[in-house]
Amino acid sequence: MTTKPSKIKTLTVAIALLTAAATPLAADPLKVVTTTTDLAAIAREIGGSRVRVKSIALGTQDPHFVEPKPSLILDLRDADVFAEIGLQLEIGWAPLLLDQARNPRISRGGRGYLDFSEVATVLDIPMRRVTRAEGDIHPLGNPHYWLGPENGKRIAALFAQKFAELDPDGTREYTNHLMEFVRRLDAAAARWREQLEPYRGTPVVAYHTSWKYFLLFAGMEIVGYIEPKPGIPPSPSYLAELIERMRRAGAKAVIVDPFYDAKVPRLVAERAGATLLILPSSVGGAAEADDYISLLEYDVTKLSDAIRR
Ligand SMILES: [Zn+2]
Repeated sequence: MTTKPSKIKTLTVAIALLTAAATPLAADPLKVVTTTTDLAAIAREIGGSRVRVKSIALGTQDPHFVEPKPSLILDLRDADVFAEIGLQLEIGWAPLLLDQARNPRISRGGRGYLDFSEVATVLDIPMRRVTRAEGDIHPLGNPHYWLGPENGKRIAALFAQKFAELDPDGTREYTNHLMEFVRRLDAAAARWREQLEPYRGTPVVAYHTSWKYFLLFAGMEIVGYIEPKPGIPPSPSYLAELIERMRRAGAKAVIVDPFYDAKVPRLVAERAGATLLILPSSVGGAAEADDYISLLEYDVTKLSDAIRR
């Protein structure tokens, strides 16, 4: 039996089609390791199916203090991209892991190394040199910049740029994902501003300065922080003065990240007649906050509910 030429042609076309279809799948995804879940969530939005993303910290953990598990070294050894917040947020744990991974692609200065503080708008940059010896855990400025939506866009843009550089075939996809993310975030931010408009200028207090970017976006008046300096526990006299200031200002809420002990903040809130509000500051810090936009959405809703009372 002879095979007809037309059948051979069909087969050739079919093989060509299959090969073409298989190419994007066969390409290895970029392996991305981020220090925090917020960076991971944005990396996923931009990279889509072309990236595989893992966060070292959980959204329920204090990003200043994460236990560097040895199993993470394997992920880092294999990674194409390492992304961190910078400004010494991760100084207690990320450098140790990077050293042990011995992966020049993602070492500081390597092609796959990303420090987002280089593109973010950073607040609280000290006028003079501050060392950790003084106990301040933000010696280079406030590293919690991801909680401001404008910085969310800057993070997304840098991911898109880096992914396109390392995987030029995906450039169009990364650009489209970036445009879509910015469009959704802008639309959400406009909605949040409207939702918060009636409460503009409401006096509030936060435990750590992690909330500064969010509260400025939300138009709140920050009366003070329970920590006298980032990372420094308050003295009784400091708290007494803060409570007095809150009473005078009519402070409505005390905002605490979920990983801090709420005992002191609860006491302060009670004494000052304010509502204690435990808010996730990272993606995954609450079940509903499972991506970047839902994190801010959740926090905006909880904050407006708390101060409406
Ligand atoms: Zn901090």
